[in-house]
Amino acid sequence: MTVNAETQAGGNTWQNLPAAQQPEYPDQEALRSVIEELASYPPLVFAGECDLLRSRLGAVAKGEAFLLQGGDCAEAFDAVSADHIRNKLKTLLQMGAVLTYAASVPVVKVGRIAGQYSKPRSKPTETRGGVTLPSYRGDSVNGFDFTAEARIPDPERLKRMYHASASTLNLVRAFTTGGYADLRQVHAWNQDFVKSSPSGQRYEQLAREIDNALHFMHACGADPEEFKTVEFYASHEALLLDYESALTRTDSRTGRLYDTSGHFVWVGERTRQLDGAHIEFASQIRNPLGVKLGPSTTAAEALEYVERLDPDQEPGRLTFIVRMGADKVRDKLPELVEKVTASGATVGWITDPMHGNTFEAASGHKTRRFDDVLDEVKGFFEVHKELGTHPGGIHVELTGDDVTECVGGGDEIFVDDLHQRYETACDPRLNRSQSLDLAFLVAEMYRD
Ligand code: PEP
Ligand code: MN
Repeated sequence: MTVNAETQAGGNTWQNLPAAQQPEYPDQEALRSVIEELASYPPLVFAGECDLLRSRLGAVAKGEAFLLQGGDCAEAFDAVSADHIRNKLKTLLQMGAVLTYAASVPVVKVGRIAGQYSKPRSKPTETRGGVTLPSYRGDSVNGFDFTAEARIPDPERLKRMYHASASTLNLVRAFTTGGYADLRQVHAWNQDFVKSSPSGQRYEQLAREIDNALHFMHACGADPEEFKTVEFYASHEALLLDYESALTRTDSRTGRLYDTSGHFVWVGERTRQLDGAHIEFASQIRNPLGVKLGPSTTAAEALEYVERLDPDQEPGRLTFIVRMGADKVRDKLPELVEKVTASGATVGWITDPMHGNTFEAASGHKTRRFDDVLDEVKGFFEVHKELGTHPGGIHVELTGDDVTECVGGGDEIFVDDLHQRYETACDPRLNRSQSLDLAFLVAEMYRD
């Protein structure tokens, strides 16, 4: 890959357009120098990997695979540790194993990981105890501490994001290809969950079936390479366009631009304006893309995203991440799916059952009910069943740790428990047991 001013220009066309949710840096000169430095750093991912993921997502769009995308709402610099990364990965791999068996199709595994450091906010400021300060916008922008100094956007943080992403990705690559992620090991963890957790016991039958399948293969003498390593990809919201375009490089094989900050990037609900900078930036890169679709999305807008981002109607290029809310998905989604399908485009449809179901508990904690999350997934499956289209996957906010951020689940967390271990820097995540619960319940849905 080369950084070449001329070919790079295609990656900068967003600069003339309004860009929502960008930090206001007090020192523009400092920002420019950081961007220049970032542009000289090596890519975090390779273009060929992005192409491979695009073909995997093509299978999702065509109904031949299922996408599992998950991780933190906001990664944090001080959570870049072996334990946190391993626990998250372990949870995703366990979910992946259950879903693969139930869906009987490949499960494409993508983390919200190694780059998910930037947050769009509904409000530019936050008020506590009569004090109003700029909102926290993610570790890539400012500090979480509620002090005037911490909340000043600091461009040096963009470099920390790069290094935090690089070390996370390095460990993820080691875990997924170095033997740790062997399917038999992952299955053993699932058996452990089923045995040791009260909620896990209802999944005994499914776990036993998987066990039998593995024993059967072993008895046949099968020991496929595919069991030993896992294909795993990194994704994040392409929010900070200065950072994303500094990591956008021309691929020497194809002469095309790739955003090498992650394999898959998405445009969020607050930045998906058709005449805005984020959609323009996304249209210029060859990575597989996602667009979040909230409840106000019209069919005309969805068709316009297809036109702008997937003009060649290439399966795998575009994935719609639907986040309507449990009470709206059954009403709002059918028209979008019908019209996009009728246009001839083959996009992937996945459900984000988190962002339409957030509320504030009396204690002041931002939370979500496990039952609402599950109900949105159910509604999403129902809509696709009715239309004969493919419910392509799930996009969830989760952690591998035993936090208390979402209420409900098999090992029930009550509103009064939220304060016990509420660690998220932004939105509430499913904890380890809630995540596994969800995977088993989605697996059951798949078989119905
Ligand atoms: C997110 O994914 O954390 C997020 C902010 O989502 P959305 O853009 O759908 O609100
Ligand atoms: Mn979130």
